[in-house]
Amino acid sequence: MEQTGKNVSKFEFQAEIKQLLDLIANSLYTHREIFLRELISNSSDALDKIRFSKLAGEDMIEPEEELKIEIETDEKNSILRVSDNGIGMTKEDLINNLGTIARSGTADFLRKVKEQERSFDKNLIGQFGVGFYSVFMVAGSVTVDTRYAASDGKGWRWQNRPDYGFNIEEIDKNSKGTTVELKLKEDAKEFSKAEAVKQIINKYSNFLDFPIYLEGKRLNTVGALWHRKKENITPSQYSEFYKFITHEENEPLGFSHLAIEGTVNFKALIFIPSGGDFDLYRLQSERGLHLYSNKILIKHDHKDLLPEYLRFVRGVVDTEDLPLNVSREVTQHSPAMVRIRKFLTTEILKLLKSWADTEPSKYKEFCKDFGPLFKTGINTDFANRGKIIELLRFQTSMTEEGETISLKDYKQRMHPDQKEIYYICGENRELLESHPNLEYFKKKSLEVLLLSEPVDIFVVPSIGEYDGLSLRSIDKADIEVMPEDKIEESQDNLTKSFIAFCKDLLADKVKDVVVSRRLVDFPVTLLAPKDSLDPQLERMVRMMSKDQPVSKKVMEVNMSHPLIRNLSRIYLAD
Ligand code: ADP
Repeated sequence: MEQTGKNVSKFEFQAEIKQLLDLIANSLYTHREIFLRELISNSSDALDKIRFSKLAGEDMIEPEEELKIEIETDEKNSILRVSDNGIGMTKEDLINNLGTIARSGTADFLRKVKEQERSFDKNLIGQFGVGFYSVFMVAGSVTVDTRYAASDGKGWRWQNRPDYGFNIEEIDKNSKGTTVELKLKEDAKEFSKAEAVKQIINKYSNFLDFPIYLEGKRLNTVGALWHRKKENITPSQYSEFYKFITHEENEPLGFSHLAIEGTVNFKALIFIPSGGDFDLYRLQSERGLHLYSNKILIKHDHKDLLPEYLRFVRGVVDTEDLPLNVSREVTQHSPAMVRIRKFLTTEILKLLKSWADTEPSKYKEFCKDFGPLFKTGINTDFANRGKIIELLRFQTSMTEEGETISLKDYKQRMHPDQKEIYYICGENRELLESHPNLEYFKKKSLEVLLLSEPVDIFVVPSIGEYDGLSLRSIDKADIEVMPEDKIEESQDNLTKSFIAFCKDLLADKVKDVVVSRRLVDFPVTLLAPKDSLDPQLERMVRMMSKDQPVSKKVMEVNMSHPLIRNLSRIYLAD
């Protein structure tokens, strides 16, 4: 930072932000209108903050003024201005927020763009919150005038420079809040037309709970949808509202609108998304429902309103039953929070069950998008474990590729002599289908769950038992064969001595060598000894910790296989 002329301080954009600006200014030509949504959403956040401060009785100027957003267009000069009378920014806020501290979202965003080697689309911008910088899609020169709302706040002007830097100077500004002024690029002049602005607001910001004025007229009309009666809301309003809060393009898969009164009081409007490119890690770590108290936003993405495994659900919860200004540790376990979480969880599981029962194709889509995250609930939500297990769907050795069944289906179509539910874990269906350990089960028409999602191995074995049947990995050596295969063939001396020879030869490589009762076309297979980890799980554990030893397997030998028959003949002849 350096000081120039009359109190102007010069700054450089942080390196990552420079990269971002380059990308934004030079590779994004479609959907440019979303810059306006981003500005309005920043203004709305600033208004939410001031409304909250007022509730908390904090010091501020103009506390009684109507909270609003105003838009001015100046077509002749290609200028667009967006103003709010929200919380405003201090000089430090300006320096940090608009230029020098790359938010974690920025780095993620750049990585994602590179990873996918695609020019980023508006969904990416929405998801990663590069928000403010999107103005550089349409503007060459940007001025931000702002004043923090406290009575000792001062006016500041932020202006970008063409050399990837920005200036800040003190200005006279008597009212709280922020005005962003854009000098539009030649090819973006249309955004200084009132008509164009109206259409964009209509599309993206109709549900905003603060009025947006243009030329003295209010543009947005709908407001806090969740406070309305269901009967007065059209399906398309629900889906528009979903797109408004999520910035998603697709329709939601489904939704539920709740108004609960009793031991806890709240309204909620929750949605299950569809068809996106969802990154489970992000879902788990960053997402939550927006929490309101009588239409006042208390917190974006509140983490405690839903259990982790339901983090894919989007929406809002509005309640006056939660204390507003207490630490997370306190609210997390407060009785009201626990009750709300319980209600929402029950409702979501109910919705999913109704799809599973009556709308299988919808449910299938849900499983494809969120199945892996959802399944982890088995290990974390013990109260609902049973319900979650009923909702699981599996590919099996008898389903067509892509078809799935429930454990209930499995039990119904089970072989009469079968006493356990069989599964096998592996990388993908194709590998599993040709796995030697599956051979016997195919021959006997015994159905085996084919588990190929990475989470399966952490989740499915812990189901332990379903409706009196235990779940068993067919990679294990102690699996019981069907009664007809149990009859002990008396082993001839040659077999006995050949097996003993193999045992001797492989003593330091395998735990045991035995005659197989289950192999058909494969000469040998390796199985995990009783009481050891499932081989797939062991592989995973080894990836995480190099110290995990490779456990010795049991080798089963198929004595009727030509290769083995030949080998034992050679052995006999020395
Ligand atoms: P995001 O909105 O995702 O936080 P932005 O890049 O859009 O990211 O904005 C960065 C930060 O700048 C905001 O978090 C906020 O602190 C501040 N900011 C932007 N616009 C305004 C505004 N109109 N009023 C007050 N603060 C603002």
